[in-house]
Amino acid sequence: MVGILGGEAPGRVVLLRADMDALPIKELTGLEFASRTDGVMHACGHDGHVAMLLAAARILASHRKELRGTVKFVFQPAEEAGEAGGGAKPMIEAGVMEEPKVDYVFGLHIFTNYPSRTFALREGPLMAASGIFRIHVVGRGGHGSAPHQTIDPVFISSQVITALQGIRSRMLDPLEPSVVSVCSVHSGTRNNIIPDDATLEGTMRAVSEVTRKRAASLIPRIAHSVCRTYGAECEVEMKDAYPITANDPLTTRSVSALLKSIPGTRTAEVPPLLTAEDFSFFLRRAPGTYYFLGTRNGKKGCIYPNHSARFRIDEDVLKYGSASLALLAFDFTGQRRRARQSNVIPQENR
Ligand SMILES: [Zn+2]
Ligand SMILES: [Zn+2]
Repeated sequence: MVGILGGEAPGRVVLLRADMDALPIKELTGLEFASRTDGVMHACGHDGHVAMLLAAARILASHRKELRGTVKFVFQPAEEAGEAGGGAKPMIEAGVMEEPKVDYVFGLHIFTNYPSRTFALREGPLMAASGIFRIHVVGRGGHGSAPHQTIDPVFISSQVITALQGIRSRMLDPLEPSVVSVCSVHSGTRNNIIPDDATLEGTMRAVSEVTRKRAASLIPRIAHSVCRTYGAECEVEMKDAYPITANDPLTTRSVSALLKSIPGTRTAEVPPLLTAEDFSFFLRRAPGTYYFLGTRNGKKGCIYPNHSARFRIDEDVLKYGSASLALLAFDFTGQRRRARQSNVIPQENR
């Protein structure tokens, strides 16, 4: 869903994006406005993103006479569905960055890692590129009392999981943020049957494209070699999810200065995170900034992390988020020159 607001005078085109999808979690907040759909919950604050962007649209519309240029308000589905390709890419393919052509992109995320009213951001790579892997170990089943007559896929899978941890600890630069996590293991039916096969699924992430590619090449190599050692067959599927979320340094420097001007808030520079975001696809098409707004507030019980069934936000931060979006749109539509994408982001991370 896209809303377009044209100012009175010509200027730049700024895209503001709010993701709006929920998560398959049974809500345990006990709030009076908790989800009424069983097993579906706004546990990542995307409902807050929608509210903040709607309020920013209202603020900007009430100042339309002073606005130069055009603001596109983008409400995006399926940010959480990385395994299915996400919602940003299809919107871009459908032309959301064109007519009028977008000069700057901005996105905001509510985050309990930071205290309420704190804007958190960094220049350059902010979040990781993510990939998904699926390893199917095919052995030969039999009786639990006679493992020597079988090729045990449960035991072999455990060796694969252990060996994969050597990628992060022994084969990649320890100073480069990265992670390889096996998050799902499925095999077997009961205690005395060695099954025929096992399936492992996991995620790998890095904030440098070189590191990500290296890890992506090592996962199949290690899985195949461990399986071969024990006589099992192995199929490995690898899939790229989201690219690196890289903030344009020049734009982000201006954004940081603008955020500092919002009374009642703080601005913090943060290290890169291993979460991933499909806002990265917008940042590949135009300079811009993705930034966080802290919502941790112990007094109000807003202490549970994003994706927790008890996740709740400090609603008093919403007005600061709206103000920040309106401010960025107002300022960047009026920018004379388009900031060049600077050279601080290495080419491989674009
Ligand atoms: Zn999320
Ligand atoms: Zn989210």
